This record gives sequence, C-alpha cells and structure tokens, in this order.
Amino acid sequence: MSRPFDVIIVGAGSVGTPTALYLAEAGLRTLVVDELPSVGQGSNKRAIGGLRATHSDAAKIRVSLRSLEVFATWEERYGDKIEWHRGGYAFVAYREEEEKSLKGLLPFQRSHGLIIDWLDRKQLLEAIPDLNPKGLIGGTMAPQDGNASPLLAVHAFYRRATSLGAEFRFNEKVTGLIRTGGRVTGVRTDKGEYSSAAVINAAGPLGRGVARMAGVDVPVHPDSHEAAVTEAVTRFLEPMIVDIRPVAGSANYYFYQHDTGQVIFCITPSPPMWGLDVRETSSFLPMVAKRMVEVIPRLKNLRVRRTWRGLYPMTPDGLPIVGESEEAPGFVLAVGMCGQGFMLGPGLGQLLARLVQGKLTEEDKDTLSYFSPRREFKGQEKLG
Ligand SMILES: Cc1cc2nc3c(=O)[nH]c(=O)nc-3n(C[C@H](O)[C@H](O)[C@H](O)COP(=O)(O)OP(=O)(O)OC[C@H]3O[C@@H](n4cnc5c(N)ncnc54)[C@H](O)[C@@H]3O)c2cc1C
Repeated sequence: MSRPFDVIIVGAGSVGTPTALYLAEAGLRTLVVDELPSVGQGSNKRAIGGLRATHSDAAKIRVSLRSLEVFATWEERYGDKIEWHRGGYAFVAYREEEEKSLKGLLPFQRSHGLIIDWLDRKQLLEAIPDLNPKGLIGGTMAPQDGNASPLLAVHAFYRRATSLGAEFRFNEKVTGLIRTGGRVTGVRTDKGEYSSAAVINAAGPLGRGVARMAGVDVPVHPDSHEAAVTEAVTRFLEPMIVDIRPVAGSANYYFYQHDTGQVIFCITPSPPMWGLDVRETSSFLPMVAKRMVEVIPRLKNLRVRRTWRGLYPMTPDGLPIVGESEEAPGFVLAVGMCGQGFMLGPGLGQLLARLVQGKLTEEDKDTLSYFSPRREFKGQEKLG
C-alpha cells in the first residue's frame, strides 16, 4: 500500500475533478481514481455545457453562483480556453402556467443573489429576435448565466489539480472500500489498495454502487438523455433557451449557440428512460427538432451533425446528495447531480474541500441541509 492520502476521490468527472483541484489547493494529498482512460469520460463529456444559477432552491443557486465565478474568470486567471460565453439563460413562457410559475420564483431567486428579470413579450423579442412571437407571453432572463465546453473545462481543472500535486489514476476501478473500526479508511481497486483519512464518492450515475461498498444506500438512478450538435453558423442567439412546457413524450428541452457557432440541444424524455443504455435512438431528433423549430422557426435551416446519449444521475427530488455518511464515517457522498453536475462542479468542489477540512461556514451547513443524504426526498425541483 502507498503512503496514505488525505483524501481519495472515486471518479474524475464533473464533480471529482474540480474537487481534487480545491483539495490540492488546500494542501491536501489527494488521489482520484477513475475506471475510464482519462478525465471527464463519464457523464461529463455528454453534458451540453449549460451553466446556470437559475434554480428554484437556495442551495443550488448558491453553489452555482460560486461555479459561475470560476468558469467566468478561468481563462483570465489561468490562461486555458474553456469556451466560456456569458449569454444568459432565458426560460420562455407561451402559456399562463409557465408565466405564473416562473414569475412566482423571481422574489425567492433574487433574495438568494440571482440577477434575474421578467421580460415581457416585447422585451424578450428584443433580446431574442428569432423567437416565435405567436403566443409568446414573455420569459425570465438571467444575464450572468452562460455556457462552456465540459471537456475543455474538466481538462483545465485536471491540469491545475495535477500542477498542485493531486494524483490521478485512470483505467483503475474501485472495487471495494477499506474499513477500520467502522470508519472508511481507503479504497481497494482492481490494481491495488490506497489508504486515506476520507473517501469521496463522486462516481456519478454509478454512485449508488460505490455507496453500497460502504453499506450505504443512496437513491441515485441513471436516467438517459439524448443531445445533438448542429453545424457552426455566425452567432444569432445569445442565451440558452429553456422551454419547460411538458408535452406528450417529453418534458423540458433546452438549447443554445456555443462559442464556436454550433447549436447544441437536448430534451428530457417523458416518461424517463431509466438504465445505463447510451445507444442513440431514432425518436430523439424528430421529437426535439419539432419543438425547437416551433420556438425558433429559423432553426429549420440548420443541419444536425451528431447526436449522442448520456446519463443523468437522478435523485427522487432532483437535488444532489452531498455530505458525510452517518453509517460510514470518513465516507463522503457527492452524487446525484441530475442534469446539473457540470454547473455545480466547481462550487461543490470548494464546498467539499471545506467539509473535509472541518471548515464549513454557517451558510455551507445550510446548503448541505438541502443536499443531506438523510432528507426525505419529498419535494420536486421546479426547474429541473
Ligand atoms: C445529454 C446531457 C446533457 C447535459 N447537459 C448538462 C448541462 O448543460 N449542464 C450541466 O451542468 N449538466 C448537464 N448534464 C448533466 C451532467 O453531465 C452530469 O450531472 C454530470 O456530468 C455528473 O457529474 P459526476 O461527476 O457526478 O459524474 P461523471 O462526470 O459521470 O463522473 C463520474 C466518474 O466516476 C467514474 N467511476 C464510476 N464508478 C467508478 C468506480 N467504481 N471506480 C472508478 N471510477 C468510477 C466514472 O468512470 C466517471 O468518470 C447533462 C447530461 C446529459 C446526459
């Protein structure tokens, strides 16, 4: 067995990689183990790159605001291009139901520091001239939200983490946890054993299996979502557009124009597609294209270049599960990111670094109460 680490992270994905960076920044000896050949090869690279603090609960707003600071300043601080673009997020309303629910959230969102406004039909059309005006009521606009490349970002976090001394082992699968007197004190892999003061489970859609190794059950279920990218065109669209109207076969869908000109989009199938299957389907493009062209008719001229499918690590209430396990001290859960692991990653990494060091603030403790593994999982995220 090697010299003990302070922290071992299972999973070099959207959450594990920035967490390693903030642990290494705090001077902790950190090891990240991933069964895949390089960083960000799980759900991370399947994300479409949306980064928002527009949420309906205090915890995700707070964590994402921290993440947005990191993404927005990364290039200027460290020089890596991550294709960050601050285009904002627009949730559009074509029916009174959505108008009511989006407007209803505004006072709460603002009270937690989110900059967000309601734009009426005319104002929204000024901001997004290509929106279909027919039936449009208005929508919310959060101008500080944006987007970036999940692979470029995770690689940038990886480079900084390793430059600060964090170690990564790829092609190595965690197969069990080492326990000493009830406490989790390391991991067993298909290649060896490593000991540490704490182990963080950041195994994404496979997080439930890793938690079971500690005798802990967490309700994280992989749910598959499909996405696509078009050819690149001159910029015509600033914000991410989110349409939360449920229709037969799908719930919300969202799309934006990336920094490099492509429109990237995905849809939430309804009912959900549970399981680990990531083969593309023939039903996705006809379903999503119809809905997108209804909202921005001009999109009909764009050619789709590629589709792919990936996994959301879903929880019953749409909130992540983060915190030290009571059943297995030393074992920290950072799983169940649903459709938001990329946007939560850096903010959560900072929070986990404080948790591991015993430096939680009162606000952190409140944030973690929303994400508690011991909560009842009763509520339902409104902007999932
Ligand atoms: C189509 C689509 C679009 C999305 N769009 C967005 C978006 O716009 N914005 C956003 O924020 N999120 C988005 N998401 C969600 C986002 O991809 C996930 O929430 C996020 O990647 C989860 O991060 P994670 O670190 O928990 O998991 P991952 O990134 O999957 O990392 C987990 C890692 O753990 C490793 N692992 C698992 N088990 C073991 C083991 N036993 N031993 C060793 N390694 C192990 C895996 O190999 C993997 O690399 C999207 C997802 C999909 C599918």
